[in-house]
Amino acid sequence: MQSFEYYTSLANSMDFRTKCWIDGQFVSAKSGETFENINPSTGKKLCDVARGNSNDIDAAVNAARTAYEDGRWSEKTPSERKEVILNLARLIRENVSEMALLDTLDMGKPISETVNVDAPGSAFFFQWHAEAADKIYDEIAPTGGRDIAMIRRVPLGVIGAVVPWNFPLDMATWKLAPALVTGNSVVLKPAEQSPLSALRLAELAKEAGLPDGVFNVVPGFGEDAGQALGRHMDVDCLVFTGSTAVGKLFQKYAGESNMKQVWLETGGKSPNIIFPDADLEKAADMAAFGIFFNQGEVCSANSRLLVHSSIKDEMVGKLRDRAEMIKQGDPLDPATTMGAMVDVNHAKKVERFLNVGKLEAKLIIGGDRFSINGSDAFIQPTIFSDVPEDATIARDEIFGPVLAIQTFDTENEAIEMANKSVYGLAASVWTSDLARAMDLSDKLHVGTVSVNTVDALSAMTPFGGMKQSGFGRDLSVHSFEKYTALKTIWVKY
Ligand code: NAD
Repeated sequence: MQSFEYYTSLANSMDFRTKCWIDGQFVSAKSGETFENINPSTGKKLCDVARGNSNDIDAAVNAARTAYEDGRWSEKTPSERKEVILNLARLIRENVSEMALLDTLDMGKPISETVNVDAPGSAFFFQWHAEAADKIYDEIAPTGGRDIAMIRRVPLGVIGAVVPWNFPLDMATWKLAPALVTGNSVVLKPAEQSPLSALRLAELAKEAGLPDGVFNVVPGFGEDAGQALGRHMDVDCLVFTGSTAVGKLFQKYAGESNMKQVWLETGGKSPNIIFPDADLEKAADMAAFGIFFNQGEVCSANSRLLVHSSIKDEMVGKLRDRAEMIKQGDPLDPATTMGAMVDVNHAKKVERFLNVGKLEAKLIIGGDRFSINGSDAFIQPTIFSDVPEDATIARDEIFGPVLAIQTFDTENEAIEMANKSVYGLAASVWTSDLARAMDLSDKLHVGTVSVNTVDALSAMTPFGGMKQSGFGRDLSVHSFEKYTALKTIWVKY
C-alpha cells in the first residue's frame, strides 16, 4: 500500500468524470442540471455531477438498443467478447489506486479496503466472467428422428442496471460483467452518492475495446433517472441492488410498463449463530468483521448475533475487545479501519436506531454519532446485548456498525430466531459438529449459509437472497441465466 501522503496528494489532483456517458462519450444532462457530490469524510464538495433524468435515460437506451441491434457487440463471438473484457480487467488493475480512491472519496470507506478489496475485486470479477464466456455450451434436445432441436442461450437485449453506494464499483461490476459477457447492451444508473467510479469505468471499457453504445452510464437520482429506467418500454431486463422498499417499486414499474424481467438483490438482517463447541476466538474475530467491515454498510452484514446462553458473557467481552481495536479516522489514511457513513443523512438515520436501541437493550460499547475533520458522518462501532426478539434493532436493517446480541438455549430455538425475519440473504453458523452445521444449513431460509466463517463469497458461487432479500443470483456461471433467454431452434431435415 502507498502512504497517507500519497493518497492525499493523488486525491487533490484527481480529474473527476462528471457527465453522462452515452454512446461512447461524455455529455451533459439534457436539462443542463447537476447535483453536488460530497465527500462524506470531510463534508466538502468533490464536484458537480450531471443530473440525468428520463430524457438522458431515453438517449442512453436508444444508444444501447442501436448497438445491440446492429450486432457490434451482440454478434461478436464469445471469445472476442472475452478478450475485450479481459482488457478491461487489466486496465482496472493498471488504474487500481485511482479506482479505489474514487470510491473512498465518494462514500467514505477506508482506502485500505478499496485498494485491497473493491478495486482488485472488480478486476477479478470481470476477468472471471470473461474467462467463462467461451466455456459454456448450448444443448441439443434428445428428439431422435430427422430433427435437431437446439436449445440456445441468447442475450436479452438492453439491460438496465440500478445499483447502490455501499460497494459502488463492485456492485456495478457484478451486473456488468455477466451482462456484457453474454452480449447485451447496458444502461447503468449508479447511486447518486457514488457515481464517480462507474463513469471512469465506462471510459476504461472504451479503452479496452468495448464498442460505443454498448455500455452507458446515466448518473442521477432514483425517483427520476432510476424510475425512468425501470419504466422504460425498450429495456428488456432490469437488474437492481438496493433496499427492499425500492426493489418493490421496480416490480411495480415493470408491471405498469412493458413487463420487463426484474431481478432484485435487496436488504438483509443476517443472523450469526454461535454454539459453545466453536472456536470462540475465531468466531469473535469474524463476528466483529461481519458487522463492522465497510462501516456495517453491507447487505449481508451479520447484524444479529445469536449466542448460546452459556457463552454469552464471554462472547460479549470478546466482541467489546474487538470493537475497541477499530481505528476510525480519515479514510485516506491506510491505518484507518473504519471510515465515515456514506452521508450525514444516513449517519443520522443510523443514530436514530442507536437511540431506539438504548431504550430497547443494554448498550455495551459505542452508541453515538460523532465528528472527524469537521464531518458529522461518523458512527462509533456499537454493540447492544440483551436484545429482545421483537426489538426494532433486532428486526430492521440498520446498515451501519451496530450489532444486536441475543441468546438461545436449544438448536431449534436458534433456528426459529434466525428465520424470524422478513429477510433471507445470508446466515453464519459456528460449531465443530458437522451434522449440526448441515442440519442448520438445511433449515435456515437464506441464500448463503457460511459455516465457521462469515459472509463466504466468491466469483465461483452464486450470491443472492430469499424472502424479501430478493431473487436471482449475482456471480458464478448462474449469473448468466439472468442475462440470457433460452431459445429453441428446431430443424427438420
Ligand atoms: P436504495 O434502494 O435507496 O438505492 C439503490 C439504488 O436505487 C440507487 O441507485 C438509487 O438512486 C435508486 N433508487 C432510489 N429510489 C428509487 C426510486 N424511487 N426509483 C428508482 N430507483 C430508485 O439503496 P441504498 O441506500 O443505495 O443501498 C442500501 C441498500 O442496498 C440496503 O438495503 C442493502 O441491504 C442493499 N444492498 C443489497 C445487496 C444485495 O446483494 N442483496 C448488496 C448491496 C446493498
